[in-house]
Amino acid sequence: MHNLILVLNCGSSSMKAAVLDGTTGDSHLNVLAEKLGSADALITTKHQGEKDVFYFKEHTTHDHAVRKLLQILQQHGLSEDIIAVGHRVVHGGEKFHASTLITREVLEDIEHCIPLAPLHNPAHLLGIHAAQDAFPNLPHVAVFDTSFHQTMPEHAYMYAIPRKYYRQNAVRRYGFHGTSYRYVSQAAADMLGRNLDELCMVIAHLGNGASVTAVKNGLSVDTSMGLTPLEGLIMGTRSGDIDPSIFEFLFDNKHMSIRQINSMLNKDSGLLGISELSNDCRTLEEHAALGHDGAILALNMFAYRLAKYIASMTVATGRLDALVFTGGIGENSASMRQRVIQHLGVLGVHVDAELNAAMVGGQAGAINVATDVVHTLVIPTNEELMIAKDTYALTCAE
Ligand code: ADP
Repeated sequence: MHNLILVLNCGSSSMKAAVLDGTTGDSHLNVLAEKLGSADALITTKHQGEKDVFYFKEHTTHDHAVRKLLQILQQHGLSEDIIAVGHRVVHGGEKFHASTLITREVLEDIEHCIPLAPLHNPAHLLGIHAAQDAFPNLPHVAVFDTSFHQTMPEHAYMYAIPRKYYRQNAVRRYGFHGTSYRYVSQAAADMLGRNLDELCMVIAHLGNGASVTAVKNGLSVDTSMGLTPLEGLIMGTRSGDIDPSIFEFLFDNKHMSIRQINSMLNKDSGLLGISELSNDCRTLEEHAALGHDGAILALNMFAYRLAKYIASMTVATGRLDALVFTGGIGENSASMRQRVIQHLGVLGVHVDAELNAAMVGGQAGAINVATDVVHTLVIPTNEELMIAKDTYALTCAE
């Protein structure tokens, strides 16, 4: 085995790692460290279908997790074949339009983006530093969630507030899930046997976080998430769009602070807040089938908001060749796709019930009725593969 790429995704209390072949994309190992920063951290390894769990016995940092990862790679005989490390970084601000080799200057730029992603970027930096210590002789690459959206035109990314906030503090729409959109848009073009640069698509990435992007000729021209991932769609625990006056209203009437309101909008809202049951789409579908009011309302609101956004994104593309669903919900929930598409007759989108029911559990394919001009597709995303490919291209390809 040669040409292996280690893909790392460090969150504030977690570290996800995968080893992929940079040329074939074959996956060799998956590792997940959880509860970092506490004394009951654990690390789970999946290798050739076998699962293994290791419990740390002391307070565990990202450094400990990366050192344990190095041991795991050695145990499986993979460490010698790793030729580069690719790091997922949530926020690259306006600085990064593409993935990049990590240098001291790049690390400083990622640090400058901390005000834009105060939870994510510090964790990524911890992970990058720990990985650079563990793999000092390998090239490291940063792949940003935001960079794909840097092609949005000014009229799509500016907020209608005084421009000085953009000039002085870079307040604007950035958008996220960019690595997923890049992978899925190319996969959709391949599936349709068309060139990406001649296709107008709207892609819905629906996981715990959810967003929609307008992709015109391979470029992002608008997206639903904004300065932060809070804007846009209803999500697992996020409200998505809301009247910003809610801050003053809840301050006046509930004496809540900005931080409390922000936390409520991010963590207690969305599917969870409406259903008063769960943030998990599958759980809600099970309870909706039994007549649970909150679950039914939450799923209906999620679908309606999403449909409104899909329709609005066609203003940005100017035409709709393909509508694509991805992410845990988009890939698996035939019932959510059906709920959304039933609002989209106006766009000429109709679902074929049989095809829709079959497209679950990692299946990729079309779900539209044969007479539709618009191709409605389900495509499982693969952000790790995209990170591995970028890393390989920047460090190893001739
Ligand atoms: P993340 O954004 O954390 O990567 P995922 O992309 O894994 O999240 O998506 C998680 C969501 O996908 C959850 O709401 C989960 O309920 C939903 N999901 C996964 N499988 C199914 C399924 N078979 N039916 C309905 N929803 C599903």
